[in-house]
Amino acid sequence: MANTDFSRLPVYAEAEVVVCGGGTAGAFAAIAAANEGRSVLLVEQFGTLGGTATAGLTTPLMHTHIDGNPHSSYIYPLLQQKLLAMDAANPEGNRFDPLLLGVALEQMCVESGVKLLYHTFIPEVVTENGRISAVVIANKAGLSLVKGKIFIDATGDGDVSVRAGAAYNKGNPETGKNQPMSLRYIIDNVDFAALNGFFREQIEKTGVDRNAYANPNGLDMYADCCKSNPPVTLTAVFEEAVANGDLIPEDYLYWQAFGLPGRKGSVAFNCPEFFDRVDGTNPEDLTLAQVNGKKAVVRQLAFYKKYFKGFEDAYIAEIAAMVGIRESREIVTDYVLTAEDILCKRKFPDMFCQCNYPIDIHGAVLQNRYLVDEPVDSKPWYDIPFGCLQVKDVENLLVCGRCMGTDFIAEASSRIQIVARSSGEAAGIGAALSLRDGVSVHQVDGAAVREIMVARGAEYAK
Ligand SMILES: Cc1cc2nc3c(=O)[nH]c(=O)nc-3n(C[C@H](O)[C@H](O)[C@H](O)COP(=O)(O)OP(=O)(O)OC[C@H]3O[C@@H](n4cnc5c(N)ncnc54)[C@H](O)[C@@H]3O)c2cc1C
Repeated sequence: MANTDFSRLPVYAEAEVVVCGGGTAGAFAAIAAANEGRSVLLVEQFGTLGGTATAGLTTPLMHTHIDGNPHSSYIYPLLQQKLLAMDAANPEGNRFDPLLLGVALEQMCVESGVKLLYHTFIPEVVTENGRISAVVIANKAGLSLVKGKIFIDATGDGDVSVRAGAAYNKGNPETGKNQPMSLRYIIDNVDFAALNGFFREQIEKTGVDRNAYANPNGLDMYADCCKSNPPVTLTAVFEEAVANGDLIPEDYLYWQAFGLPGRKGSVAFNCPEFFDRVDGTNPEDLTLAQVNGKKAVVRQLAFYKKYFKGFEDAYIAEIAAMVGIRESREIVTDYVLTAEDILCKRKFPDMFCQCNYPIDIHGAVLQNRYLVDEPVDSKPWYDIPFGCLQVKDVENLLVCGRCMGTDFIAEASSRIQIVARSSGEAAGIGAALSLRDGVSVHQVDGAAVREIMVARGAEYAK
């Protein structure tokens, strides 16, 4: 495609800020830029907002591991209000219904004046003298262009940045391999009272009371079982099922389940997980994950029916249309956040987000490093600077979400949704400041971005 002249395609639309991808980061970016008075067009390949969180069924929100869990976002509490009004979140704000999260984000975009363009994929960009002048869009109407002044790459995989010529890192530098991917699913009509009884029986039988809890009210449960992190209450059950051939060994490498607010008897599973063929930018790997994933979901439901209690009338309610990609490409930006920054809890003057989530590298053996080291400044978190959003060598492009500028290890902490939300918000405001001041996105001062976030209600740890 490199030699094709896309600049002659018809222009479908034009906006001051074009947000590419409507996942968590993209939706927050679009709302934030529109709230600063800019015309915003958001292009998304699916028919919902929220990406991994909604189409990928990825709930709940992980905690920042900072006291008080500051969100580094003013849009976050507004979203939480909407979710609570729909009975789609718990009051603590960490559990949400993925389907309704998409609805709430869509409402917020529409209310902010964002123009949405769903079912539209961005395969290419048009660049002139180090600037993007348009993204190519592909949809039922064919190929056309969306022109813009500032572009925000919120595709999760950095598609737009890469097409614009940006450099990137990809995968573990020691192996070249990306983090495992997962195909998540939801099972409905689970009897939580019976499930709780089953967990209690197992605790008594094994003497292990760890990571198996279900509230008989049908709304709240948590359980996990990962081979490299034993023993938990369910270890013996998983080992028996693998020995009997009812599960395959991979089913037992990573298995995790959560209750869903507002959905009585509903369980969201953070599995099955895949350890080979895990390149989220390779369509064949994505197809394999769908095909093998669905097979695993059917197998796992049969396992619950045979070995657990409470699943007698349960059924598969949803299987994610979107494969869950933990890590693919990290775009090279003006500042690239490193493992060292995270471990020494570095602070930056252009900080927009604070986080202390563990370095969480999935694999056949889980590598989960909690960030408990004492920081030199007695503030137990690391900062993420605005420089991680300014795409190197492209004048009018910002990146946000899991593909922002980090190294592989830093991404294993910073990929959580709270950070994706904050980075989208910062990118949207950064785009608006670039337009207001008539400067390149590289000249936008991250501290000024944060001041706007704070003025609008964002909270940070002191
Ligand atoms: C299995 C799994 C479990 C996880 N568990 C948790 C958890 O429990 N808690 C937590 O906080 N975080 C969790 N995470 C991490 C977190 O959910 C993600 O890192 C985060 O949601 C990513 O948000 P994003 O906006 O950067 O990207 P995405 O959500 O991936 O959004 C990208 C969007 O861009 C669209 N898109 C992509 N390319 C194009 C294109 N070329 N043209 C048009 N549209 C495009 C996609 O459809 C999507 O909507 C998990 C991740 C995975 C994969």
